[in-house]
Amino acid sequence: MSFDFDLFVIGGGSGGVRAARVAAAGGATVGLAEESRLGGTCVIRGCVPKKLMVFASGYREAMNEARDYGWDVDAGDFDWPKFSTRLNGELDRLENVYQRLLTNSGVETYASRAVVVDPHTVQLTADGATKTAKHILIATGGRPTRPNAGYDTSLGMVSDDIFHMDSLPKSMLFIGGGYIACEFACVMNGLGVETTQFYRGPQILRGFDDEARGMVADQMKDAGVNLELNTDVTDMVKVDGGVEVTDTQGRKRVFEKVMFATGRKSNTDGLGLENTATALGKGGAVMVDDYSQTAQPSIYAIGDVTDRVNLTPVAIREGMAFVETVFNGNPTKVDHALIPSAVFTQPEMGTVGLSEEAAAEQEPIHVYSAAFKPMQQSFIGREARVLMKLVVSQKTDVVLGCHIVAPAAGEMIQLAGIAVKMGATKAQFDQVCAVHPTMSEELVTMKSPTRST
Ligand code: NDP
Repeated sequence: MSFDFDLFVIGGGSGGVRAARVAAAGGATVGLAEESRLGGTCVIRGCVPKKLMVFASGYREAMNEARDYGWDVDAGDFDWPKFSTRLNGELDRLENVYQRLLTNSGVETYASRAVVVDPHTVQLTADGATKTAKHILIATGGRPTRPNAGYDTSLGMVSDDIFHMDSLPKSMLFIGGGYIACEFACVMNGLGVETTQFYRGPQILRGFDDEARGMVADQMKDAGVNLELNTDVTDMVKVDGGVEVTDTQGRKRVFEKVMFATGRKSNTDGLGLENTATALGKGGAVMVDDYSQTAQPSIYAIGDVTDRVNLTPVAIREGMAFVETVFNGNPTKVDHALIPSAVFTQPEMGTVGLSEEAAAEQEPIHVYSAAFKPMQQSFIGREARVLMKLVVSQKTDVVLGCHIVAPAAGEMIQLAGIAVKMGATKAQFDQVCAVHPTMSEELVTMKSPTRST
């Protein structure tokens, strides 16, 4: 018996259209009838118009929230003193919470710098008192550094200072291309400051996935950040109205404020560790073994001061593992592999695992990459784009890396990080049904590799 079609689909909604398209792409002859509009419930009278209305309805509260943050929504001006007062109030509140947590746990606290006098003794510089302990834990963190340069770097501030500005400058230069420079350049640009960023290399966020950091850089520029790559400072002098900066191209410009975000250093200066067998490494970092123990058996160190992975949740884990090892008789190493992290630029970048470049050096890979205009911005004609990307081992199908550039990428990567840490394969990602309409549904719907290397 012969037929007009191999398949006839009645209904041109999401299910019907997908089945018809895929069957036809596979070589079947397909007919489809739809008595109303193509797209069905989801596209025409459901998910899509609903979600656009959800976006629209959210702006009223967003505007109220913006006012509480310090925006004059009608004028488009930001009231820094109002925000700053609220910010400091919040920090006071949090400091009190920390104090209460310590007191309620029975910890005696001293508002003083402490230095190590010997392997079991610290001295409080406030009153000279000494305290002895079976174990000493160095958790002094790090601090921002200025470069060694042939000009007066004290003319530039560092990230610690930005929280204490009395007013917003009209213009600001950020030097550096790491997390801190990029995040604060976006913040200041977003608050209405004329923002320039110099980075000495060819692309910001060195070490992150090239495609992802390229997308962040492009969108920072689109948003108004004057991002100047392969550019550094050669001179700085104080002038009326700010700092005159000469760059590597010989141009001179005046910025009201300049901020160095050129890296951080371990806080070990003057800590007295030379009174012990503790060894220091590059940048004064305390050298520790897998259990955070130094060469001086009674002294341990955790967090940024050890310059392993300088992120708060890592320091917390190192602290927990230290207690487990030393006080609970259960030697515990911190697993520093596959730590998800986010860069809070605008748009955010969330990342876990290997970049495409690092993975390709390691083994043959498939790359699944979807870059597209998200519904919320596309509706109002904006050019903003998002990126959902998986880097997959050709041999094992394991997802080696996941990279997201999108609003709330930090939230998304926390969840994708669970799957990647569990060693999920691409096939297992694909087994998960999409949540629609979302940006991150692309992570489970990318059928064929964008490229393979
Ligand atoms: P990074 O080490 O990440 O970046 C330093 C930047 O400064 C790099 O771009 C570096 O360039 C550049 N640089 C270094 N020396 C010079 C110099 N002499 N002249 C010009 N440029 C220079 O440091 P950050 O201070 O940005 O951040 C420190 C750490 O804080 C991060 O590694 C991160 O762990 C943590 N952090 C995390 C955040 C988060 O999780 N969201 C937010 C903020 C900080 P090059 O690349 O060429 O070396």
